[in-house]
Amino acid sequence: MVIAIAAMALMACQKEQKFEYTVDKFYDLEILRYKVPEFDQLSLNQKILVYYLSEAALQGRDILFDQNGRYNLRIRRALEQVYVDYADKSDPEFVLMEKYLKRVWFSNGIYHHYSADKFLPEFSREWFEAALAQTNCTLDKEVLDVMFIPELMAKKLNQADGVDLIVTSAGNYYGEGVTQAEAEKWYAEHEDNSPEPLWIGLNSQLCKDEKGNIYERTYKVGGLYGEALEKVVYWLEKALPYAETEEQKTAIEHMIELNKTGDLKAFNDYCIAWVKDLNSRIDFVNGFTETYEDPLGVTGTWESMVNFKDLEATKRTTAISDNAQWFEDHSTTDPKYKKEEVKGVTAKVITAAILAGDCYPATPIGINLPNASWIRANYGSKSVSIDNLSHAYSEAAKGNGFNEEFVIDEATRQLMDKYGVICSDLHTDLHECVGHGSGKLMPGVSKTSLKEHASTIEEARADLFGLYYLADNKLVELGLLPKDAYQAGYYQQMMNGLMTQLVRIEPGKDIEESHMRDRALIANWVYEHATNKEVEIIERDGKSYLKVNDYEGLRRLYGELLKEIQRITSEGDYEAGKALVEQYAVKVNQELHQQILERYTKLDLAPYKGFVNPRYVVKQDQQGNITDITLDFTEGYVEQHLRYSRDYSNLPSVN
Ligand code: ZN
Repeated sequence: MVIAIAAMALMACQKEQKFEYTVDKFYDLEILRYKVPEFDQLSLNQKILVYYLSEAALQGRDILFDQNGRYNLRIRRALEQVYVDYADKSDPEFVLMEKYLKRVWFSNGIYHHYSADKFLPEFSREWFEAALAQTNCTLDKEVLDVMFIPELMAKKLNQADGVDLIVTSAGNYYGEGVTQAEAEKWYAEHEDNSPEPLWIGLNSQLCKDEKGNIYERTYKVGGLYGEALEKVVYWLEKALPYAETEEQKTAIEHMIELNKTGDLKAFNDYCIAWVKDLNSRIDFVNGFTETYEDPLGVTGTWESMVNFKDLEATKRTTAISDNAQWFEDHSTTDPKYKKEEVKGVTAKVITAAILAGDCYPATPIGINLPNASWIRANYGSKSVSIDNLSHAYSEAAKGNGFNEEFVIDEATRQLMDKYGVICSDLHTDLHECVGHGSGKLMPGVSKTSLKEHASTIEEARADLFGLYYLADNKLVELGLLPKDAYQAGYYQQMMNGLMTQLVRIEPGKDIEESHMRDRALIANWVYEHATNKEVEIIERDGKSYLKVNDYEGLRRLYGELLKEIQRITSEGDYEAGKALVEQYAVKVNQELHQQILERYTKLDLAPYKGFVNPRYVVKQDQQGNITDITLDFTEGYVEQHLRYSRDYSNLPSVN
């Protein structure tokens, strides 16, 4: 007994010294923890601002579950009740249910967060119905059917050709019975063509009444999701006095107004104030933001992230954004598609302090906002790279055997070990700071011209811009990257796009997600156009490896494709965009796919990662004034979600 205690004491001691990045692992998912460096060096007011904004972030959690499918909240709550109250926790069916619940938490619903396919329970329906009865929980047959019957509402987001994208998508952006044609007609009729247009449809669900008329249910206090938005407003109001600048104060005020009224003018005002706020150390996103999840790309998905500037690393992105015009002028694109004046491209490296909504548990490592092109053109945009998250990824992946398996030789592996992280950081910076902000649309071309392929083409455009410049001597001149180090980034992109990203796809399935499509599009196009064997795939002992013979040639090919993708974007050439996506971005070489999966499976790694948040611990004096805020990193994945479901569960089960 004594020995056991001693051993445990030793373990506890080691744990204090070493930050454990990996928290949990199940299915294709790995949960990590992230550090929040320098939080303790913020002023008390800054810490309080982070804390209040992080509360505002967590209050919206249920919104995303409901947007991801109208049955999700009912399913999550039933699962949680069974999880807590079921008597026999060692029951094998219960263990399978726990796994399923962990996955539901990760996906904010019953659809895979990346592939958008519904995942099915491994426990039986009979067992679950009995477990529900035992724990005094009820779930309608309708809901159980959706959980257990594979064909029923099988996909969250359908991007396939020739079907009604709304009717075949289970995402809850449109009310029951609304068709794609009806929604498109409604949007066309309500489109705002003024110089400072409202983003009609951003914060609403289009529904159909009994007479077949289309109407909007707006996300606002007193409207759809009002119970959660009310809480968001409460915490934003508490944050307001701690705003660091006038612009930030204005931004928070407009965000409050938007949540209260749903008025899209307030959203525009918020975006403008937010993009002008360059001097606050603390920053945040909170609200209906990205539109990837709406099959028509109109309505925003709820997300929040609170962060603060990493002062040292921001010197890197400042160097890039200070040269935005140079990058614009020297790219391979046709001069008539270039911006004469690239405005206000600001970029910073940030430290994430809380992730919520569509940024949690899976999260982006770079963000560029706002999305409205007229605001970007007139006021610029803010770009961020989130270094504490990328560093958590690379720390957790150290020594996992992946590069040993897939990279062609030791020299290339060494190059990647040495420069992989900096190439990836710089590529993200270039993608976000200058890539998305580059180029212009021809007069009369709308941002929606490329329809369902718009996201893929836009991501490819930003990626190619970044890839092209990663190899540029300008980066060497700016002291950001040593000469030839870019090769690590090029090898990484081609290997990922052609081969290793396929580990995220199930056998026989197509590529769906737009960033994955973008990477496949680039790599497959380049591979097919590498007529001088700039790159090839070679076979060795029955295994395929990417071989790059001519890195400069590879850069020329990236440049050529960038030129064409910019043309497609600027001209709104839907047919050409569609042809590129269909030919290079969707289909998977089955034989290669199977080989990659077999090699990957042996490594026993999870292709997707997500995070748990730190917990904010508030210290108060006897009068209730906050005297300090500290971070606690000990919370586990299950504990965190159960706590969130207890403390931040604001919406009714049916909305
Ligand atoms: Zn992007």
